[in-house]
Amino acid sequence: MNDHHPADHHAAGEEARHHGGHEHQAVPSDLALRVKALESLLVDKGLVDPAALDALVDMYERKVGPRNGARVVARAWVDPAYKERLLRDATAAIAELGYGGAQGEHMRVVENTPAVHNLIVCTLCSCYPWSVLGLPPVWYKSAAYRSRAVIDPRGVLREFGLELPDDVEVRVWDSTAELRYLVLPERPAHSEHLGEEELAALVTRDAMVGVARVTIPPGARRP
Ligand code: FE
Repeated sequence: MNDHHPADHHAAGEEARHHGGHEHQAVPSDLALRVKALESLLVDKGLVDPAALDALVDMYERKVGPRNGARVVARAWVDPAYKERLLRDATAAIAELGYGGAQGEHMRVVENTPAVHNLIVCTLCSCYPWSVLGLPPVWYKSAAYRSRAVIDPRGVLREFGLELPDDVEVRVWDSTAELRYLVLPERPAHSEHLGEEELAALVTRDAMVGVARVTIPPGARRP
């Protein structure tokens, strides 16, 4: 477990922490099968409506979760003191907005700048900040993303449609069960006139994992 990925793309300091002996999520290999069997049984007995179950998962994946993170990001963009607290102690700053709990107990926020782009991965499993991003997308859990995000982050970003100039440093952060990361994306240009709520609406899950930028639709730019 001490060499499950090359160290060169990792930011200084993180390598030691990640490999300091703590564990990623210990997921029993048959857990998914057990969940599936349980779900089938509940549906068969009429105790659970599969459509309701899908809606619940969808809500966690696409609405509630990422919206929480988006509010954190928007607050950091409009409130420099909050941003400072967020970068210093993310767990506490995120809790200020009422978010926390399972899979988000220990958070760190890393800031994108014109010179640095951050990318989040969990090389061993799928550690992910549920409290601010909801459930991880399928690609985040894929073996291809988990290995290639470390080996060839620029290539992975290119496939997501994000071409980074050579002079932008890419930092890859390996999430664990004990420490989960959130990217603070750059506030888009031409967004000076937008309020916190409007800004939050622009922030996507992918931008907070680091595979996209936050963009502002041309129509929303101040003329
Ligand atoms: Fe993990």
